[in-house]
Amino acid sequence: MDELIIGSHVSYNIAEGLAGCVLETLKYGANAFMFYTGAPQNTIRAGIDLELTDLAHKTMKEQGIDIKNVIIHAPYIINLANNKDLEKYDFSINFLKQELKRSEILGVNKVVLHPGSHVGLGEETGLNNIIYALNQVLEGEGPIICLETMAGKGTELGKTFEEIKTIIDGVSNSKRIMVCLDTCHISDAGYDLNDFDKVLSEFDEVIGLEKLGCVHINDSKNVYGSHKDRHANIGFGEIGFDNMIKIIYHQALKKVPKILETPYISENDSSKKRTYPPYKQEIEMIRAKKFNPNLITDIRKYYNR
Ligand code: FE
Ligand code: FE
Ligand code: ZN
Repeated sequence: MDELIIGSHVSYNIAEGLAGCVLETLKYGANAFMFYTGAPQNTIRAGIDLELTDLAHKTMKEQGIDIKNVIIHAPYIINLANNKDLEKYDFSINFLKQELKRSEILGVNKVVLHPGSHVGLGEETGLNNIIYALNQVLEGEGPIICLETMAGKGTELGKTFEEIKTIIDGVSNSKRIMVCLDTCHISDAGYDLNDFDKVLSEFDEVIGLEKLGCVHINDSKNVYGSHKDRHANIGFGEIGFDNMIKIIYHQALKKVPKILETPYISENDSSKKRTYPPYKQEIEMIRAKKFNPNLITDIRKYYNR
């Protein structure tokens, strides 16, 4: 069966472990998901409960979620490009090694990683630092790291397919490295998604489509080339609904898990207190292939019912 592989970022907590992620995914009517193994902004990580992991795998089997379509996102404070502070650089390398071990225990085979920011060291030095670190981390067998394409905010690396390719070429154990294409990020980086076929053939020429391991499905609050990295709900940004649908249903991306990281909805326009996940309604809208201009109010209604 050629079912659309789609899901979203879900939360992970120690009490429910991987089983909690699966339940949240099912609530959204999704068949894929991505999570952080702890808080995304820090590196405090608890041990993994094996019983909850077994339960999660059992539920996934029953509910038709293929573990191949489950992704872990490494915390975004890991910066492999910056070795100014060697202690921090080594910490990042060791943390990533641990993260890959956790992924293995959880049975997850793909870990998305932001390549890093050179913070003034220059692009070449930054890229070399990333390559050096990845070669430490990717020795032997284990899960795949998917390098995420970045918006090019500040000194972020991985803002062009060429930079990603440079990193891949430097990694010896190349079977353990793939790419995560983030639609908001590549648009912000200057790839015009009004012509996705052109962008994809450029990806294929520079990196190779066989290296595409994950797609992040986000609209962008800003026009292409803005280097801002602010995600918008599907159809509510500058990429637009029709372009997003073309990407999501593209033949070449059929087997690749598509993960929404669109913003939560606040209770009303002024209140920032309560927020609701948009994913159930966004996935419904994507499956219907029809833009819902009332998406935001529908989400508020649903969570206040
Ligand atoms: Fe990311
Ligand atoms: Fe992303
Ligand atoms: Zn982003």
